[in-house]
Amino acid sequence: MSKKNIYVTQPTLPPLEEFIPYLQQIWDNKILTNGGPFHQQLEKALCEYLGVEHISLFTNGTIALVTALQALRITGEVITTPHSFVATSHSLLWNGIKPVFVDIDQDTLNLDPEKIEAAITPQTTAIMPVHCYGHPCDVEAIQKIADNYNLKVIYDAAHAFGVQDQSGSILAHGDLSVLSFHATKVFNTFEGGAIVCPDAKTKVRIDQLKNFGHVGEVTVVAPGINGKMSEFNAALGLLQLKYIDQALAGRKKIDVAYRERLKGVKGIRCLNDAGEKVANYSYFPILVETDYPISRDDLYQKLKDNGIHPRRYFYPLISDFPMYRGLLSAHRENLPVATAAAQKVLCLPIYPDLDILVVDEITRFIAAQ
Ligand SMILES: *Cc1c(COP(=O)(O)O)cnc(C)c1O
Repeated sequence: MSKKNIYVTQPTLPPLEEFIPYLQQIWDNKILTNGGPFHQQLEKALCEYLGVEHISLFTNGTIALVTALQALRITGEVITTPHSFVATSHSLLWNGIKPVFVDIDQDTLNLDPEKIEAAITPQTTAIMPVHCYGHPCDVEAIQKIADNYNLKVIYDAAHAFGVQDQSGSILAHGDLSVLSFHATKVFNTFEGGAIVCPDAKTKVRIDQLKNFGHVGEVTVVAPGINGKMSEFNAALGLLQLKYIDQALAGRKKIDVAYRERLKGVKGIRCLNDAGEKVANYSYFPILVETDYPISRDDLYQKLKDNGIHPRRYFYPLISDFPMYRGLLSAHRENLPVATAAAQKVLCLPIYPDLDILVVDEITRFIAAQ
């Protein structure tokens, strides 16, 4: 195997010398934060690139999730998925909201719309699904349920930068969508995030909430938080955006190579190819089924012993962590598909400049067990 360690992802960085002029500009104008020129430019550029109307930038995706719930005044219970990163349901706890876990669909590993209705109670006010691995949720079915029961929908779209469906950006669905620009994500500003909102009025409220609830010099209208993105991160975002298509094309090559090479390997299932236009190739999850010669954890360990570091996203399930497992909805018998997925899933290394020869090595290793 390769001499050096290969991790599940490696952050994408633009050429350093191209960043210097941006820094020079910040040093010259001495505007460091609070909606400065780079912040404004990045909001506009992201709206254009993603094909959405309104975006509010944030310091990270988690504060954006917490603020999105505040902006819509969500209370009581929120239906969500256990198969995600903990930030999804932590944002509910930070708002004093009770998460209600609902099982996932076995083909997409996203929230199963058919199981949502049974979890609705008089306290339910919203649904928080995740476009897991950047694969779109069944947005139509979810919206139908939300309309029937008068619920809000907030998508955790941390994996879904640039993902599209037939109607355009996946981020245009639901009441709000939340992005993360963390170092490990497809598009990164080191740390960062955003809320995609449907109208100017909602954006104004969100902009107030991320700036302590300030409206002008002497007026505070809400108990807001500090969720502002700095000029440094916004400038980096503008530069990263110039390379995003190149990065997505690089990821696609890796995705295609894995699929070709793993086709026909007994006991290994690749999650469905989301299709040409739709995908952002943010992760490459495989499912190690029971007819594979060794267990998922043995394969995981053997790869690590050989310098390949895949990740078991998402194991443990959120619902198995101590602050959640006491909830009735967290019981494993209510979540059979998610429980099985947590035992089977392995995310293989994928990033734009991962060498195809490494993909060859990894897939040969997997096929040889
Ligand atoms: C990364 C991630 C987050 C959190 O985003 P940060 O920018 O790291 O705060 C939330 N939800 C999911 C599903 C994520 O993968």
